[in-house]
Amino acid sequence: MLLRSFIAIQMPTAIQDEIEKSTAHLKKALARPLVRWIHPHNVHLTLKFLGDVSAANLELLAHALKRESEQHAGFSLSIGGLGIFPNSRRPRVIWIGIEAPAAMQTLYRGIEAAAARLGYAPETRPFSPHLTIGRVNQNVSMADIQKIRAALEETTVGTLGAAPVDAVHIYKSDLQPGGSVYTHLYTAALKIISER
Ligand code: ATP
Ligand code: MG
Repeated sequence: MLLRSFIAIQMPTAIQDEIEKSTAHLKKALARPLVRWIHPHNVHLTLKFLGDVSAANLELLAHALKRESEQHAGFSLSIGGLGIFPNSRRPRVIWIGIEAPAAMQTLYRGIEAAAARLGYAPETRPFSPHLTIGRVNQNVSMADIQKIRAALEETTVGTLGAAPVDAVHIYKSDLQPGGSVYTHLYTAALKIISER
């Protein structure tokens, strides 16, 4: 059996709730089927999309992730701002921004390398950390695109708070018409720094 899996950083519930509050108006203005919004408590930071993984490979991945994570100290992300990929003329992904310390990039590269050693194709695009909150329907009209642009321009998302990162997680994703359902599979803790 194969599990559609990915490695991600979890967002604190408080941040997810702040995202929900600051985008409620936007979600009302751009309802389905124009945009598929991610359930607030599913919002996460993807580090590595693995695709279909066998149970045996999941064990290897979990082990490799544990060993890699132990070598990276925890850090904190600053969450805030709103944007769209690739741009407002071709809207695809609506996101909330992340300001990350250099440690984030180092952790990302370590995980990429660990996954590559197990045969998972490295990502070719540069890592640009963001939180996907909505995906724009790709059969939209020019009028729809205009509507999306206007709604985004009217919405300001300031700094929402800090997200401490002390672990990375493996999830499986079950694609469903109502939205993908994520199930937590494994946690790998980052290096614990003594408080003293
Ligand atoms: P849905 O596909 O139903 O819109 P989803 O994209 O959240 O929902 P998945 O496609 O299973 O669910 O993706 C799980 C995670 O992996 C998400 O964070 C998604 O953005 C990311 N992801 C999915 N496919 C890729 C890919 N080809 N490259 C990079 N990241 C991906
Ligand atoms: Mg997807």
